[in-house]
Amino acid sequence: MASKARSSSEALKVVARCRPMSRKEEAAGYERILDMDVKLGQVTIRNPRASPGELPKTFTFDAVYDASSKQADLYDETVRPLIDSVLQGFNGTIFAYGQTGTGKTYTMQGAWAEPEKRGIIPISFEHIFTHISRSQNQQYLVRASYLEIYQEEIRDLLAKDQNKKLELKENPETGVYIKDLSSFVTKNVKEIEHVMNLGSQTRSVGSTNMNEYSSRSHAIFLITIECSETGLDGEEHIRVGKLNLVDLAGSERQSKMGAHGERPKEASKINLSLSALGNVISALVDGKSTHIPYRDSKLTRLLQDSLGGNAKTIMVATLGPASHSYDESLSTLRFANRAKNIKNKPRVNEDPKDTLLREFQEEIVRLKAQLEKRGMLGKKRRRSSRRKKAVDGESTTENEGEDDNEDGLEKNMENYLKEQKERLEEEKAAIQDDHSLVSEEKQKLLEEKEKMIEDLRKEQEATELLATKYKAMESKLLIGGRNIMDHTNEQQKMLELKRQEIAEQKRREREMQQEMLLRDEETMELRETYTSLQQEVEIKTKKLKKLYAKLQAVKAEIQDQHDEYIRVRQDLEERGRDPAEQDPRALHLERLMHLDSILERPAASRVRKSRSW
Ligand code: ADP
Ligand code: MG
Repeated sequence: MASKARSSSEALKVVARCRPMSRKEEAAGYERILDMDVKLGQVTIRNPRASPGELPKTFTFDAVYDASSKQADLYDETVRPLIDSVLQGFNGTIFAYGQTGTGKTYTMQGAWAEPEKRGIIPISFEHIFTHISRSQNQQYLVRASYLEIYQEEIRDLLAKDQNKKLELKENPETGVYIKDLSSFVTKNVKEIEHVMNLGSQTRSVGSTNMNEYSSRSHAIFLITIECSETGLDGEEHIRVGKLNLVDLAGSERQSKMGAHGERPKEASKINLSLSALGNVISALVDGKSTHIPYRDSKLTRLLQDSLGGNAKTIMVATLGPASHSYDESLSTLRFANRAKNIKNKPRVNEDPKDTLLREFQEEIVRLKAQLEKRGMLGKKRRRSSRRKKAVDGESTTENEGEDDNEDGLEKNMENYLKEQKERLEEEKAAIQDDHSLVSEEKQKLLEEKEKMIEDLRKEQEATELLATKYKAMESKLLIGGRNIMDHTNEQQKMLELKRQEIAEQKRREREMQQEMLLRDEETMELRETYTSLQQEVEIKTKKLKKLYAKLQAVKAEIQDQHDEYIRVRQDLEERGRDPAEQDPRALHLERLMHLDSILERPAASRVRKSRSW
């Protein structure tokens, strides 16, 4: 079963979320133009400047979240299953895509201080470490990185030197990676939160206008989870899951160059990654492209696995509810709608080369051997056998045994060194008292002893260092119930389970409803026998109405795509660029032109026909 799950393809999950009206929007009296059907997973958008007869447009997604949705709703229904997969060794990516001010950062991070408002990233921290604390017979190593892409430059938000620009490299085995990106091994929620805060602080330093800056940069929080477990074959296997949490730059079309004070070259780089993302998605879903332009931008190269690759991916499209954002909301919905058609082939990363977990395990073994050689772990055997007895007798938990063991290490060392030192001091005193020695000889012997005491002290220091390192490394390999505890009580656990069940049920209901809707349309088209003329008229009228609505929708879509094409074209002309240049927007343009030519076809053939007459 596992191998089947590993090879089957899976569509990108796309959900839409609408934030509440802001106070400003309410004060300005903007209309609400979005309607979210949560049960059915549909968003309907109405053009506030609709021409007569223009119908609202409806989009269907895996789920939709309206203004009253809670952070936990989105997490339990949509995100939780993905994080569970990452914990099993799949790669996972969550993107927040949308216009600035629509809730990307709210969805990804939320408000830290208020538990109800914590977003995907902090909830996932809890999820990951709780899972590990409840695991059995597994060893985990968790580490985190935090980076940002701004004007096509990668910045390590956790590095000391913030001026260093990082490079993308490619490894034939593991794919694209960032050279020299710092990462921190984290043992618990607190530590990983600390890493996150550190990066967020760095992000805001040096930007005079944080909002403006963050709306133009992509932030990626990266969590790598390695897990080792003894398989059915009796061998130890390591699985690695990588999680990308991506808060994209605002999707709004940048105002004309120079408006923000950049020189033209910089201005053209601002949305390059986002344009490239759009192009990659288009190329992936048009079914004809043999070349997917991942290499056009840093973002698409870095997230190649997530788009048409081996990862599981979720896109959260964020929307504003008010009429003034109609154009941007529609364009976000279209973008998300296209992304729905991307197919990935998720698979578990099993036993990849060069895992940090393996390195840790080997280093721990090496340190342990060194400590044993120094006689530091001598008494351990006796202690662990005592622990076993205690466990059998159910009088103590394994955890207490472990603490005992660590204390034991220190005591062992202390005792050993104390004994040695005492022995040397005694010998020194004996030399002092020995009146048979001439003073020169005495001095020499005393110096020798002094040196031995000094050596012992050095040895003690070195051993202490070794022991500290050993303990630190061992503490980072997380073992459920041993060095990472689950503190949720039974009642909380029950509630958690209940919440997950409800989320699962909601998801299934929505899937069924969507399927029924589809089937409804199909059966309507298939039915050809009617019991009466009256019924035939009724059914055909209904069908006609539906088809008419569809036709209107397609027509509107064509018009909008055409407008978009004109806009991109103007944009390029203003920049004085040749559309065929390497700017990914040019590719986008090509594709739109292609679409345009298809749309033109019926008209063109009509012309030709009339000529031949
Ligand atoms: P973005 O990151 O897309 O630019 P933000 O996440 O900063 O947008 O959100 C803009 C504002 O709207 C913030 O004040 C945020 O708190 C608020 N907001 C966004 N989404 C929601 C939501 N679902 N519920 C309540 N407030 C929200
Ligand atoms: Mg933001």
